[in-house]
Amino acid sequence: DVAMVEPDKKVDSVCPYCGVGCQLTYNIKDNKILYVEGRDGPANHGRLCVKGRYGFDYVHHPHRLTKPLIRRDDAPKTPDFSMDPNDIDKVFREATWEEALALAAKGFVDIRDSAGPNALAGFGSAKGSNEEAYLFQKLVRVGFNTNNVDHCTRLCHASSVVALLECLGSGAVSNPVSDVDQAEVIVLIGANPTVNHPVGATWMKNAIRNGTKLILMDPRGTELSQQATHHLQFKPGSDVPMLNAIMHVIVEEGLVDKDFIADRTSGFDEMKRHLQKYTPELMEPVCGIPAETLREVARLYATSKGSMILWGMGVSQHIHGTDNARCLISLALMTGQIGRPGTGLHPLRGQNNVQGASDMGLIPMCLPDYYKVDDDEARGHMEALWGGKIDSKAGLTVVEIMDAIHAGNLHGLYIMGENPAMSDPDANHARQAMSELKHMVVQDIFLTETAYLADVVLPASGFPEKTGTFTNTDRLVQLGRQAIDPPGDARQDLWIIQELAKRLGLDWNYQGPADVFAEIRKAVPSMGGITWDRLEAEHSVVYPCEQEGDPGEDVIFTQDFPTASGRGLFVPADIVAPDERPDDDYPFVLITGRMLEHWHTGSMTRRSNVLDALEPEAVATINPITMDEMGVKPGELITLSTRRGSVSVLARADIGVPTGAVFMAFCYYEAAVNKLSNPALDPAAKIPEFKYCAVNVTPGGEP
Ligand code: SF4
Repeated sequence: DVAMVEPDKKVDSVCPYCGVGCQLTYNIKDNKILYVEGRDGPANHGRLCVKGRYGFDYVHHPHRLTKPLIRRDDAPKTPDFSMDPNDIDKVFREATWEEALALAAKGFVDIRDSAGPNALAGFGSAKGSNEEAYLFQKLVRVGFNTNNVDHCTRLCHASSVVALLECLGSGAVSNPVSDVDQAEVIVLIGANPTVNHPVGATWMKNAIRNGTKLILMDPRGTELSQQATHHLQFKPGSDVPMLNAIMHVIVEEGLVDKDFIADRTSGFDEMKRHLQKYTPELMEPVCGIPAETLREVARLYATSKGSMILWGMGVSQHIHGTDNARCLISLALMTGQIGRPGTGLHPLRGQNNVQGASDMGLIPMCLPDYYKVDDDEARGHMEALWGGKIDSKAGLTVVEIMDAIHAGNLHGLYIMGENPAMSDPDANHARQAMSELKHMVVQDIFLTETAYLADVVLPASGFPEKTGTFTNTDRLVQLGRQAIDPPGDARQDLWIIQELAKRLGLDWNYQGPADVFAEIRKAVPSMGGITWDRLEAEHSVVYPCEQEGDPGEDVIFTQDFPTASGRGLFVPADIVAPDERPDDDYPFVLITGRMLEHWHTGSMTRRSNVLDALEPEAVATINPITMDEMGVKPGELITLSTRRGSVSVLARADIGVPTGAVFMAFCYYEAAVNKLSNPALDPAAKIPEFKYCAVNVTPGGEP
């Protein structure tokens, strides 16, 4: 009983899971985490959800990798593998760090020198620290000499970031989640925060209790539907026609903020012309929302003293995800609902450091702080700081890298803490691609579905085993502190990256995370004023914070936008149909996402006792009406099939799922739903359409 055990130390840190960034304290005894308590951080005020409170014991799981592994010469790389941990010895042999690092580096050097730098690529991680993300992308850029570096932001909010950079000049949120308590109206679209940002949802619930109105826009009914003044359960994929109709009403009824438009925006006249055809009456059958509801919502949003928009991957994970975000930005710009407390735009970031990883340049088109790689001046600055040449051509994104492997153009891949065998769309294709690589190095804490395909596996550190900074969805840079030591011969990720870099010919000698952070301050001007000492003292500092002593800015865009003109830009969007529509063979819509108890591909939470006990088996949720029509009862096996594959899972009834649709989380290795998802990409952001593809659902299946 842990309550009876006295910890020998307490270590203040942050939660390793979602982008809310709750601060917590680890209670430690004999290098083991006994329990976790919430701490009074700006994002959580002591609160923790079930993952933050109970999802810590994965670090002590017997599956932890404790030795470097090298693939046996006679072990075939089969993309269709079983994940029995007892098979590890048949596939890999243990090695020393010296041997593993030498082999890892040699494979990359050989490919770089024979096939050229662009035959190499790296996937970093949104779970790692800013310092790890920064060094990882630096290694790829000046060690591999390519911009082929990306991470799972490509799979979550890439489209939001593209639209925000294009329209407002900054990819970050304008206001923190907690600002909802100053809003009169919250628009929550394509997000299920009680599941995916649970402590963030408590800010919304409290605001609603104090009189804030919630307008929920989501094809799925979620827990917050019960507290919404309006729930617009629009047809999946019809965000643009619905949002354009709302904007049409705002223009038609003169509810725009004329001064804001004149003083702070450009492109409104074109937008106004564009919206003429999107009348609520014409859009009603397209999006499924009554015209009068669209009018009511338009008035409510436009005329409140403060309206705030928050969105999730229901917006971003479409081939028109960038268009969806452009519409939300236009809505805020035309009503002046941005630049003040209780207003603004907030794409709810998924992973604990997806904001920071992108800020650090872990994306193929941008250097740290979002300077484009083809910007000669910015590249020159970074080359001077790094002492190496950087390619001026943008690199490939996550899905493009898999395609390049298949096409025979890319042969070596370094993966730190990502699991594309589970998270990529059309995962069979991704697994096949990785099995075709000449050289793959995976750095992780478990033998994930991806690591299973590696040539060299480097055992890394879990979140509580290292110190670093993590940037939450509110732009808060927070300090995660080491609480325990890594097991066995596992090493901290910064050490591993640096040792690999040295073997690639880079003369690096960082003494630790504070040393790397000092360089980040020079590479990322918006964080230039944040000192390590201040982080130690205050635990978190919000950026922009350009000069030492600046308090940092919770709310941005108060005077202007960081675009060349200082103005926000309206970018009109037209209707683009989902890439793959239901038909006779595949008559349902498949929506993928996450669930409360499990985190992303499940590698951590499915190895956490409490969380796994709560949700141990793969399930897909379906509307009970649809289940009745199919003759399926809750708890029975069903098989989901798309043009790309099939999985069998248990059916669970959920009245929130629209009839004719099925929802499934992507955390189950035994029923990896991303084997089914569609890899079609948004043309601007290259994000796949995880939220919509055609699927057939049949009773029965192989358990
Ligand atoms: Fe962790 Fe997010 Fe839960 Fe907070 S809300 S405890 S950050 S998973």
